[in-house]
Amino acid sequence: MKAKINRKACTGHGLCVSTCPEIFKMNGNTSKVIIATIPELLEIKCYDAVDGCPSEAIFIED
Ligand code: SF4
Repeated sequence: MKAKINRKACTGHGLCVSTCPEIFKMNGNTSKVIIATIPELLEIKCYDAVDGCPSEAIFIED
């Protein structure tokens, strides 16, 4: 599983980083994904970040 950020939609308040710092990191005014493949152990946290993103800027790919 992979996560991607739509940087045009990201409003940069960092909620995803607070929810899952193992996967997301702020990069200037937007968030970025710092690991290429999400380990199974972090999948639920990653989905929590997706659900918690108010801008719907995080996408999951298999
Ligand atoms: S929660 Fe969504 S809008 Fe906020 S920084 Fe993360 S990706 Fe961007």
